[in-house]
Amino acid sequence: MSDAPTVSLEGKSPFELRVHLGESVPEQSVREALATGDMGFLHSYTTGSAVDGPGIRVVAWTTGCMWRCQYCHNPDTWTLTNGLPVSVSNAVAELGKYRHGLKVMNGGFTVSGGEPLMQDRFAAKLLAGARQMDIHTAIETNGFYGERLSDAELDTIDLVMLGIKSWDPARHLALTGKEIEPTLAFARRLAARRRPMWIRFVLVPGLTDDFDDLARTAEFASGLGNVERVEVLPFHQLGRYKWERLGLKYALGDVAPATWEAAEQACDIFRKFGLKAV
Ligand code: SF4
Repeated sequence: MSDAPTVSLEGKSPFELRVHLGESVPEQSVREALATGDMGFLHSYTTGSAVDGPGIRVVAWTTGCMWRCQYCHNPDTWTLTNGLPVSVSNAVAELGKYRHGLKVMNGGFTVSGGEPLMQDRFAAKLLAGARQMDIHTAIETNGFYGERLSDAELDTIDLVMLGIKSWDPARHLALTGKEIEPTLAFARRLAARRRPMWIRFVLVPGLTDDFDDLARTAEFASGLGNVERVEVLPFHQLGRYKWERLGLKYALGDVAPATWEAAEQACDIFRKFGLKAV
């Protein structure tokens, strides 16, 4: 299978709507890609990100996600074949163009999504390719499929940025469509292996800003011992147009963006538990 020739892998931002790019890939090839990781599906590569890990980063936005977060900013990434089919060798070669710049800027390479571990073999090969070029590696994941990565593969990832959506199991299920326990189990495994971790928490007014929920998340994170930083991400409406363009029912149309003050209050809860929160 050759890479699709007409659409550029490089995107302006993950907020660009991209659909149907891999639909012509035969089902058998999709299955082989998932099994081997020799080919993957990417929404895009973006460069110059200052918000997806330390320093300035190249980000690979994978497609495919098994969650349905009510506040998802990129629902076009839910469907695997909305992404551009790219061989792992081409994806690694593309990253190689930036290796010197990334070094100078103390940055690195982040695999995000979508949910990268929906394409766990591809993600593992991409990260190993980056590591071979001595590029700092990070993954942004909801952790649900964390068990798909071997211990050796975890050791090729310099930083795991784990999204915790809500502490309360019922709220988590309502918010994402999935249970929270696999995410917490992955966090515990990373802690046991002393792998560096950041926690990312999206603050949605009226949905995820419950004080007790935040405090219990903070207590859990603090007890792990490997959490270097907590990022509280204020909810915004930048992804709303994608829901509308995709004909999806968007439940948060009336929810105001989280204020800076509310984000600071949430950070303070994490700080009370001895965590660095921004
Ligand atoms: S886990 Fe991420 S990509 Fe998946 S639905 Fe939630 S916010 Fe969207």
